[in-house]
Amino acid sequence: MLGNYRCPNLDCPWNEVESEEGFCPECGSELKKVGIREGAKILGEKKKHPDAKAAKARVKEAKKMEKAKLMEEKDKIEAEKQIQKRVIDPDQTDDQIKDNIMSSLDDLAGHEAGTKWMRIGTLLSFNSTEQMIGAGFKAIIDQNKILIRQNELLRRQNETIIQELKNRE
Ligand SMILES: [Zn+2]
Repeated sequence: MLGNYRCPNLDCPWNEVESEEGFCPECGSELKKVGIREGAKILGEKKKHPDAKAAKARVKEAKKMEKAKLMEEKDKIEAEKQIQKRVIDPDQTDDQIKDNIMSSLDDLAGHEAGTKWMRIGTLLSFNSTEQMIGAGFKAIIDQNKILIRQNELLRRQNETIIQELKNRE
């Protein structure tokens, strides 16, 4: 519900108004929905508080920090998604690639288990052929992902070996 919400605690210096219910960022009191008269009364009373200005700056800074943290978190998740979209990424460690191979193998095992259900499905569904083709196609993609990742691991090993041989010269 939209309205004017204020911290009703007159000992608390936070003197801003929120449009939604919640809690005072300074003292934790539940915000109170106020009308024009009560709002003005609280505002006037709290203006006298010696810490009012500092509290306003404090809360503003805290909100800014929280927003920045949220944005940073969002960026991180986005970057992680981008990496996962690519089958391999130069930034991935060998262990991460191995983990991905294992999870693709699990996916493949899932397809195998799925085919049994699909045999039952053929009796029940007109779309079973499409389902089979779809599942087969997904399995081929998963197999390809595994091969690409295994190739990357081999390529890295080769690079290490070549580098070691060069260092020996
Ligand atoms: Zn308060």
